[in-house]
Amino acid sequence: MTLERVVVVGAGLAGHRVVQAIRGAGFAGELVLVGDETHRPYDRPPLSKQLLAGTWTQDQCMLSGDDVDVTWRLGVAARGIDRESSVVVLADGERLSYDRLIIATGRRARPWPGRLPDSGVHTLRSFEDVRAFEQSLTAEARVVIIGAGFIGCEVAATLRARDVDVTIVDVSKHPMPVLGAEAGERAVTLHESHGVRFRLGTGVHGIEGDGAVSAVVLEDGERLPADVVLVAIGSEPNTEWLDGSGIALDRGTVVCDVTGTVLDESGAPVADVLAAGDVAAWPHPHANGAVCIEHWSNARDMGDTVAANVLLDAADRRPIRSVPAFWSDQYDVKIKSAGLLRAADALTLVSEDVDKPSLLIEAHRDGSVVGAIAFNMNRAMIGYQRDLTAAGG
Ligand code: FAD
Repeated sequence: MTLERVVVVGAGLAGHRVVQAIRGAGFAGELVLVGDETHRPYDRPPLSKQLLAGTWTQDQCMLSGDDVDVTWRLGVAARGIDRESSVVVLADGERLSYDRLIIATGRRARPWPGRLPDSGVHTLRSFEDVRAFEQSLTAEARVVIIGAGFIGCEVAATLRARDVDVTIVDVSKHPMPVLGAEAGERAVTLHESHGVRFRLGTGVHGIEGDGAVSAVVLEDGERLPADVVLVAIGSEPNTEWLDGSGIALDRGTVVCDVTGTVLDESGAPVADVLAAGDVAAWPHPHANGAVCIEHWSNARDMGDTVAANVLLDAADRRPIRSVPAFWSDQYDVKIKSAGLLRAADALTLVSEDVDKPSLLIEAHRDGSVVGAIAFNMNRAMIGYQRDLTAAGG
Protein backbone atom coordinates (compact mmCIF):
# COMPACT_ATOMS: atom_id res chain seq x y z
CA MET A 1 0.00 0.00 0.00
CA THR A 2 1.32 3.46 -0.86
CA LEU A 3 1.15 5.72 2.17
CA GLU A 4 -0.23 9.13 1.25
CA ARG A 5 -0.70 10.71 4.65
CA VAL A 6 0.83 10.07 8.05
CA VAL A 7 -0.69 11.98 10.97
CA VAL A 8 1.28 12.52 14.18
CA VAL A 9 -0.68 13.75 17.22
CA GLY A 10 1.42 15.52 19.87
CA ALA A 11 4.07 18.10 19.01
CA GLY A 12 6.54 17.43 21.82
CA LEU A 13 9.94 15.73 21.59
CA ALA A 14 8.55 12.36 20.45
CA GLY A 15 6.31 13.90 17.77
CA HIS A 16 9.20 16.07 16.62
CA ARG A 17 11.60 13.12 16.34
CA VAL A 18 9.00 11.10 14.48
CA VAL A 19 8.40 13.70 11.76
CA GLN A 20 12.14 14.38 11.40
CA ALA A 21 12.94 10.69 11.04
CA ILE A 22 10.03 9.95 8.68
CA ARG A 23 11.18 12.69 6.32
CA GLY A 24 14.79 11.57 6.80
CA ALA A 25 13.75 8.11 5.63
CA GLY A 26 12.53 9.60 2.35
CA PHE A 27 8.75 9.58 2.92
CA ALA A 28 7.29 11.72 0.13
CA GLY A 29 3.64 11.84 1.20
CA GLU A 30 1.91 14.35 3.45
CA LEU A 31 3.03 14.52 7.06
CA VAL A 32 0.68 16.30 9.47
CA LEU A 33 1.74 17.25 13.01
CA VAL A 34 -1.13 18.11 15.38
CA GLY A 35 -0.31 19.84 18.67
CA ASP A 36 -2.57 21.46 21.25
CA GLU A 37 0.13 23.91 22.36
CA THR A 38 0.57 26.98 20.18
CA HIS A 39 4.37 26.58 20.17
CA ARG A 40 6.45 24.54 17.80
CA PRO A 41 8.12 21.59 19.58
CA TYR A 42 10.40 22.52 22.47
CA ASP A 43 12.55 20.72 24.99
CA ARG A 44 11.22 20.32 28.53
CA PRO A 45 14.41 19.51 30.52
CA PRO A 46 15.57 23.18 30.48
CA LEU A 47 12.26 24.31 32.02
CA SER A 48 13.28 23.31 35.55
CA LYS A 49 16.92 24.23 34.93
CA GLN A 50 18.18 26.94 32.53
CA LEU A 51 14.82 28.57 31.71
CA LEU A 52 13.79 28.90 35.36
CA ALA A 53 17.33 30.00 36.25
CA GLY A 54 17.05 32.77 33.66
CA THR A 55 20.20 31.66 31.81
CA TRP A 56 18.26 30.51 28.71
CA THR A 57 15.45 32.11 26.77
CA GLN A 58 12.43 30.27 25.38
CA ASP A 59 14.06 30.41 21.94
CA GLN A 60 17.00 28.39 23.23
CA CYS A 61 14.61 25.64 24.34
CA MET A 62 13.13 25.16 20.86
CA LEU A 63 13.98 21.86 19.18
CA SER A 64 16.01 22.33 16.03
CA GLY A 65 15.12 21.21 12.52
CA ASP A 66 12.06 23.35 11.96
CA ASP A 67 12.60 23.34 8.21
CA VAL A 68 11.28 19.81 7.73
CA ASP A 69 8.30 19.62 5.33
CA VAL A 70 5.33 19.26 7.69
CA THR A 71 1.72 20.42 7.63
CA TRP A 72 1.35 22.06 11.05
CA ARG A 73 -1.90 21.98 13.02
CA LEU A 74 -0.87 23.82 16.17
CA GLY A 75 -3.09 25.17 18.92
CA VAL A 76 -5.73 22.53 18.29
CA ALA A 77 -6.23 19.30 20.21
CA ALA A 78 -7.19 15.94 18.80
CA ARG A 79 -10.55 15.01 20.32
CA GLY A 80 -10.98 11.46 19.07
CA ILE A 81 -10.30 8.87 16.43
CA ASP A 82 -12.64 6.96 14.21
CA ARG A 83 -10.63 3.82 13.52
CA GLU A 84 -13.12 2.38 11.09
CA SER A 85 -12.76 5.38 8.76
CA SER A 86 -9.08 6.03 9.73
CA VAL A 87 -9.85 9.59 10.79
CA VAL A 88 -8.56 11.81 13.60
CA VAL A 89 -11.15 14.32 14.79
CA LEU A 90 -9.80 17.71 15.89
CA ALA A 91 -11.35 20.07 18.44
CA ASP A 92 -12.20 22.58 15.70
CA GLY A 93 -14.25 19.92 13.91
CA GLU A 94 -11.71 19.08 11.21
CA ARG A 95 -11.59 15.39 10.28
CA LEU A 96 -8.07 14.37 9.25
CA SER A 97 -7.86 11.08 7.42
CA TYR A 98 -4.70 9.01 7.85
CA ASP A 99 -3.02 5.98 6.32
CA ARG A 100 -0.91 5.71 9.46
CA LEU A 101 -1.31 7.46 12.81
CA ILE A 102 1.28 8.05 15.53
CA ILE A 103 0.15 8.90 19.05
CA ALA A 104 2.68 11.13 20.83
CA THR A 105 0.52 13.14 23.23
CA GLY A 106 2.84 12.73 26.23
CA ARG A 107 1.78 13.52 29.75
CA ARG A 108 0.73 16.48 31.92
CA ALA A 109 1.68 17.35 35.48
CA ARG A 110 -0.53 15.53 37.99
CA PRO A 111 -2.67 18.18 39.68
CA TRP A 112 -3.09 18.42 43.45
CA PRO A 113 -6.04 16.16 44.28
CA GLY A 114 -7.51 18.32 47.06
CA ARG A 115 -8.97 21.77 47.47
CA LEU A 116 -6.76 24.66 46.34
CA PRO A 117 -6.56 28.36 47.17
CA ASP A 118 -7.23 30.71 44.22
CA SER A 119 -3.59 31.57 43.55
CA GLY A 120 0.01 30.68 44.33
CA VAL A 121 -0.11 26.93 43.59
CA HIS A 122 1.71 25.75 40.46
CA THR A 123 2.80 22.77 38.41
CA LEU A 124 5.64 22.74 35.85
CA ARG A 125 5.37 21.14 32.43
CA SER A 126 5.10 23.93 29.83
CA PHE A 127 6.48 27.37 28.95
CA GLU A 128 3.29 28.92 30.36
CA ASP A 129 3.76 27.04 33.66
CA VAL A 130 7.30 28.41 34.03
CA ARG A 131 6.12 31.94 33.31
CA ALA A 132 3.29 31.73 35.86
CA PHE A 133 5.57 30.19 38.51
CA GLU A 134 8.26 32.76 37.80
CA GLN A 135 5.78 35.65 38.17
CA SER A 136 4.76 34.51 41.64
CA LEU A 137 8.35 34.38 42.91
CA THR A 138 9.52 37.39 44.87
CA ALA A 139 12.86 37.69 46.65
CA GLU A 140 11.15 37.03 50.00
CA ALA A 141 8.87 34.23 48.79
CA ARG A 142 8.74 31.08 50.90
CA VAL A 143 8.39 28.23 48.45
CA VAL A 144 7.14 24.78 49.44
CA ILE A 145 7.68 22.05 46.86
CA ILE A 146 5.39 19.04 47.26
CA GLY A 147 7.21 16.06 45.75
CA ALA A 148 10.92 15.23 46.00
CA GLY A 149 11.17 13.62 42.58
CA PHE A 150 13.54 14.82 39.86
CA ILE A 151 11.51 17.90 38.94
CA GLY A 152 10.97 18.93 42.57
CA CYS A 153 14.68 18.54 43.36
CA GLU A 154 15.81 20.34 40.21
CA VAL A 155 13.51 23.28 40.89
CA ALA A 156 14.80 23.44 44.47
CA ALA A 157 18.39 23.61 43.20
CA THR A 158 17.53 26.29 40.65
CA LEU A 159 15.67 28.38 43.23
CA ARG A 160 18.46 28.13 45.80
CA ALA A 161 20.88 29.54 43.20
CA ARG A 162 18.51 32.55 43.19
CA ASP A 163 18.53 32.57 47.01
CA VAL A 164 14.83 31.70 47.26
CA ASP A 165 13.68 30.02 50.49
CA VAL A 166 12.75 26.36 49.73
CA THR A 167 11.23 23.47 51.68
CA ILE A 168 10.60 20.10 50.02
CA VAL A 169 7.93 17.74 51.36
CA ASP A 170 7.49 14.11 50.35
CA VAL A 171 5.74 11.11 51.80
CA SER A 172 8.74 9.04 50.70
CA LYS A 173 11.71 8.71 53.08
CA HIS A 174 14.19 9.67 50.34
CA PRO A 175 14.19 12.11 47.46
CA MET A 176 14.14 10.58 43.95
CA PRO A 177 13.12 7.17 45.39
CA VAL A 178 14.01 5.22 42.23
CA LEU A 179 17.70 5.94 43.01
CA GLY A 180 17.44 4.08 46.34
CA ALA A 181 18.27 5.04 49.92
CA GLU A 182 22.01 5.66 49.57
CA ALA A 183 21.82 8.05 46.62
CA GLY A 184 18.78 9.63 48.28
CA GLU A 185 20.73 10.34 51.48
CA ARG A 186 23.54 11.94 49.46
CA ALA A 187 20.97 14.08 47.67
CA VAL A 188 19.58 15.26 51.03
CA THR A 189 23.09 16.21 52.17
CA LEU A 190 23.72 18.05 48.90
CA HIS A 191 20.47 20.02 49.05
CA GLU A 192 20.76 20.79 52.77
CA SER A 193 24.28 22.12 52.23
CA HIS A 194 22.67 24.62 49.84
CA GLY A 195 20.00 25.62 52.34
CA VAL A 196 17.02 23.46 51.34
CA ARG A 197 14.85 22.12 54.18
CA PHE A 198 13.25 18.68 53.88
CA ARG A 199 10.16 17.18 55.46
CA LEU A 200 10.40 13.53 54.36
CA GLY A 201 8.28 10.54 55.28
CA THR A 202 5.23 12.69 55.86
CA GLY A 203 2.27 13.34 53.63
CA VAL A 204 0.47 16.62 52.99
CA HIS A 205 -2.87 17.03 54.71
CA GLY A 206 -3.86 20.12 52.74
CA ILE A 207 -2.89 23.38 51.08
CA GLU A 208 -4.35 26.39 52.91
CA GLY A 209 -5.17 29.88 51.81
CA ASP A 210 -8.08 32.22 51.62
CA GLY A 211 -7.46 33.61 48.14
CA ALA A 212 -3.68 33.36 47.93
CA VAL A 213 -1.90 30.31 49.32
CA SER A 214 -0.69 30.73 52.90
CA ALA A 215 0.52 27.33 54.12
CA VAL A 216 1.03 23.65 53.50
CA VAL A 217 -0.25 21.54 56.38
CA LEU A 218 1.44 18.19 56.90
CA GLU A 219 -0.20 15.00 58.09
CA ASP A 220 1.86 15.13 61.29
CA GLY A 221 0.21 18.50 62.04
CA GLU A 222 3.13 20.79 61.14
CA ARG A 223 2.08 23.94 59.28
CA LEU A 224 4.64 25.23 56.76
CA PRO A 225 4.01 28.89 55.88
CA ALA A 226 4.10 29.27 52.08
CA ASP A 227 3.78 32.12 49.60
CA VAL A 228 4.24 29.83 46.61
CA VAL A 229 3.66 26.08 46.28
CA LEU A 230 4.93 23.85 43.50
CA VAL A 231 3.06 20.57 43.15
CA ALA A 232 5.53 18.07 41.64
CA ILE A 233 3.84 14.75 42.30
CA GLY A 234 4.27 13.03 38.97
CA SER A 235 2.35 13.00 35.74
CA GLU A 236 -0.73 11.68 33.99
CA PRO A 237 -1.04 10.52 30.37
CA ASN A 238 -2.85 12.67 27.82
CA THR A 239 -5.11 9.95 26.46
CA GLU A 240 -8.69 10.96 27.25
CA TRP A 241 -9.04 11.70 23.53
CA LEU A 242 -8.63 7.96 22.88
CA ASP A 243 -11.59 6.96 25.06
CA GLY A 244 -13.93 4.72 23.08
CA SER A 245 -11.32 4.04 20.38
CA GLY A 246 -10.74 0.44 21.46
CA ILE A 247 -7.02 1.12 21.93
CA ALA A 248 -5.61 -0.62 25.02
CA LEU A 249 -4.81 1.75 27.89
CA ASP A 250 -3.10 0.73 31.12
CA ARG A 251 -3.90 3.36 33.76
CA GLY A 252 -4.28 5.73 30.83
CA THR A 253 -0.97 4.85 29.14
CA VAL A 254 -1.12 3.51 25.55
CA VAL A 255 -0.02 -0.13 25.46
CA CYS A 256 2.29 -1.08 22.56
CA ASP A 257 4.11 -4.17 21.41
CA VAL A 258 7.90 -4.12 21.18
CA THR A 259 7.78 -2.38 17.77
CA GLY A 260 5.73 0.54 19.10
CA THR A 261 2.58 -0.70 17.34
CA VAL A 262 -0.40 -0.07 19.63
CA LEU A 263 -2.56 -2.93 20.88
CA ASP A 264 -6.33 -3.01 20.98
CA GLU A 265 -8.34 -4.00 24.03
CA SER A 266 -8.16 -7.67 23.03
CA GLY A 267 -4.34 -7.46 22.92
CA ALA A 268 -4.11 -7.60 19.10
CA PRO A 269 -1.82 -5.15 17.25
CA VAL A 270 -3.49 -2.24 15.43
CA ALA A 271 -1.17 -2.17 12.42
CA ASP A 272 -1.90 1.40 11.28
CA VAL A 273 -1.49 3.07 14.70
CA LEU A 274 1.82 3.40 16.55
CA ALA A 275 2.84 5.41 19.63
CA ALA A 276 6.00 6.99 21.03
CA GLY A 277 7.32 8.84 24.06
CA ASP A 278 5.88 9.47 27.53
CA VAL A 279 2.36 8.47 26.48
CA ALA A 280 3.37 4.93 25.54
CA ALA A 281 4.38 1.73 27.33
CA TRP A 282 6.37 -1.04 25.64
CA PRO A 283 7.68 -4.42 26.85
CA HIS A 284 11.26 -3.75 27.94
CA PRO A 285 13.18 -7.06 28.26
CA HIS A 286 13.63 -6.64 32.05
CA ALA A 287 10.02 -5.74 32.76
CA ASN A 288 6.96 -7.86 33.37
CA GLY A 289 4.74 -6.48 30.65
CA ALA A 290 4.76 -3.05 29.06
CA VAL A 291 6.39 -0.16 30.94
CA CYS A 292 6.22 3.57 30.43
CA ILE A 293 9.66 5.18 30.58
CA GLU A 294 9.27 8.93 31.12
CA HIS A 295 12.76 9.95 30.00
CA TRP A 296 13.94 12.28 27.26
CA SER A 297 16.07 9.54 25.68
CA ASN A 298 13.10 7.16 25.50
CA ALA A 299 11.04 9.74 23.58
CA ARG A 300 13.99 10.20 21.20
CA ASP A 301 14.76 6.48 20.69
CA MET A 302 11.17 5.30 20.54
CA GLY A 303 10.36 8.17 18.17
CA ASP A 304 13.17 7.10 15.83
CA THR A 305 12.19 3.41 15.85
CA VAL A 306 8.48 4.11 15.44
CA ALA A 307 9.22 6.49 12.55
CA ALA A 308 11.09 3.71 10.74
CA ASN A 309 8.40 1.14 11.57
CA VAL A 310 5.42 3.25 10.52
CA LEU A 311 6.61 3.08 6.92
CA LEU A 312 6.85 -0.74 7.03
CA ASP A 313 4.33 -3.54 6.98
CA ALA A 314 3.71 -4.96 10.44
CA ALA A 315 5.72 -8.15 9.78
CA ASP A 316 8.88 -6.16 8.88
CA ARG A 317 8.91 -3.85 11.91
CA ARG A 318 11.95 -3.92 14.20
CA PRO A 319 11.96 -3.91 17.98
CA ILE A 320 12.72 -0.89 20.14
CA ARG A 321 16.23 -1.30 21.57
CA SER A 322 16.50 1.65 23.89
CA VAL A 323 18.38 1.41 27.19
CA PRO A 324 16.48 3.64 29.62
CA ALA A 325 18.69 6.58 30.57
CA PHE A 326 18.07 9.69 32.59
CA TRP A 327 20.08 12.72 33.63
CA SER A 328 19.39 15.47 36.15
CA ASP A 329 21.37 18.61 36.97
CA GLN A 330 21.31 19.76 40.60
CA TYR A 331 23.89 22.39 41.71
CA ASP A 332 27.29 21.13 40.48
CA VAL A 333 26.17 17.50 40.40
CA LYS A 334 25.14 15.67 37.25
CA ILE A 335 23.03 12.69 38.20
CA LYS A 336 22.79 9.97 35.56
CA SER A 337 21.13 6.60 35.40
CA ALA A 338 21.18 3.80 32.86
CA GLY A 339 19.05 0.67 32.69
CA LEU A 340 15.59 -0.11 33.99
CA LEU A 341 16.24 0.66 37.68
CA ARG A 342 12.76 -0.44 38.79
CA ALA A 343 13.64 -3.99 37.63
CA ALA A 344 16.57 -4.22 40.08
CA ASP A 345 16.44 -6.34 43.25
CA ALA A 346 19.58 -4.75 44.77
CA LEU A 347 21.48 -1.45 44.56
CA THR A 348 25.19 -1.67 45.51
CA LEU A 349 27.50 1.26 46.20
CA VAL A 350 30.62 0.71 44.07
CA SER A 351 32.62 3.88 44.73
CA GLU A 352 32.30 7.29 46.30
CA ASP A 353 34.32 10.47 46.67
CA VAL A 354 32.57 12.64 49.26
CA ASP A 355 34.69 15.72 48.52
CA LYS A 356 34.12 15.83 44.78
CA PRO A 357 31.25 14.77 45.29
CA SER A 358 30.89 11.64 43.16
CA LEU A 359 29.15 8.33 43.54
CA LEU A 360 28.63 5.13 41.57
CA ILE A 361 25.92 2.57 42.33
CA GLU A 362 25.21 -0.62 40.39
CA ALA A 363 21.69 -2.00 40.01
CA HIS A 364 21.53 -5.80 40.05
CA ARG A 365 18.90 -8.38 39.37
CA ASP A 366 19.59 -12.04 40.19
CA GLY A 367 23.27 -11.11 40.47
CA SER A 368 23.54 -9.50 37.01
CA VAL A 369 24.06 -5.81 36.37
CA VAL A 370 20.86 -4.28 34.95
CA GLY A 371 21.67 -0.65 35.51
CA ALA A 372 23.80 2.02 37.17
CA ILE A 373 23.42 5.35 38.93
CA ALA A 374 26.14 7.98 39.06
CA PHE A 375 26.76 11.41 40.52
CA ASN A 376 29.45 13.22 38.52
CA MET A 377 30.85 10.08 36.88
CA ASN A 378 29.95 10.59 33.25
CA ARG A 379 32.73 8.46 31.82
CA ALA A 380 31.77 5.42 33.89
CA MET A 381 28.19 5.80 32.74
CA ILE A 382 29.20 5.64 29.09
CA GLY A 383 30.66 2.18 29.81
CA TYR A 384 27.48 0.96 31.52
CA GLN A 385 25.36 2.34 28.71
CA ARG A 386 27.50 0.53 26.14
CA ASP A 387 27.43 -2.79 28.05
CA LEU A 388 23.67 -2.62 28.64
CA THR A 389 23.09 -1.85 24.96
CA ALA A 390 25.22 -4.87 23.99
CA ALA A 391 23.25 -7.03 26.45
CA GLY A 392 19.96 -5.90 24.88
CA GLY A 393 18.70 -3.53 27.57
P1 FAD B 1 5.49 15.67 25.90
O1 FAD B 1 6.77 16.42 26.08
O2 FAD B 1 4.52 15.63 27.02
O3 FAD B 1 4.76 16.23 24.58
C1 FAD B 1 3.46 15.85 24.22
C2 FAD B 1 2.79 16.97 23.46
O4 FAD B 1 1.48 16.55 23.03
C3 FAD B 1 2.55 18.21 24.32
O5 FAD B 1 2.85 19.37 23.60
C4 FAD B 1 1.05 18.13 24.62
O6 FAD B 1 0.50 19.39 24.95
C5 FAD B 1 0.53 17.57 23.33
N1 FAD B 1 -0.83 17.00 23.42
C6 FAD B 1 -1.39 16.39 24.49
N2 FAD B 1 -2.66 16.01 24.22
C7 FAD B 1 -2.90 16.39 22.94
C8 FAD B 1 -4.03 16.25 22.07
N3 FAD B 1 -5.16 15.64 22.45
N4 FAD B 1 -3.93 16.76 20.81
C9 FAD B 1 -2.78 17.37 20.39
N5 FAD B 1 -1.69 17.52 21.19
C10 FAD B 1 -1.73 17.02 22.42
N6 FAD B 1 13.96 13.83 31.07
C11 FAD B 1 15.27 13.50 31.19
O7 FAD B 1 15.67 12.42 30.74
N7 FAD B 1 16.14 14.35 31.83
C12 FAD B 1 15.75 15.54 32.36
O8 FAD B 1 16.55 16.27 32.92
C13 FAD B 1 14.37 15.90 32.26
N8 FAD B 1 13.93 17.06 32.77
C14 FAD B 1 12.60 17.37 32.68
C15 FAD B 1 12.14 18.57 33.22
C16 FAD B 1 10.80 18.91 33.16
C17 FAD B 1 10.32 20.20 33.79
C18 FAD B 1 9.88 18.04 32.52
C19 FAD B 1 8.41 18.40 32.46
C20 FAD B 1 10.32 16.85 31.95
C21 FAD B 1 11.68 16.51 32.02
N9 FAD B 1 12.17 15.32 31.46
C22 FAD B 1 13.49 14.99 31.58
C23 FAD B 1 11.25 14.39 30.76
C24 FAD B 1 11.19 14.67 29.26
O9 FAD B 1 11.06 16.03 29.01
C25 FAD B 1 10.03 13.89 28.68
O10 FAD B 1 10.35 12.52 28.76
C26 FAD B 1 9.72 14.29 27.22
O11 FAD B 1 9.28 15.63 27.18
C27 FAD B 1 8.65 13.39 26.62
O12 FAD B 1 8.32 13.86 25.35
P2 FAD B 1 6.93 13.49 24.66
O13 FAD B 1 6.96 14.14 23.31
O14 FAD B 1 6.69 12.05 24.74
O15 FAD B 1 5.80 14.15 25.56
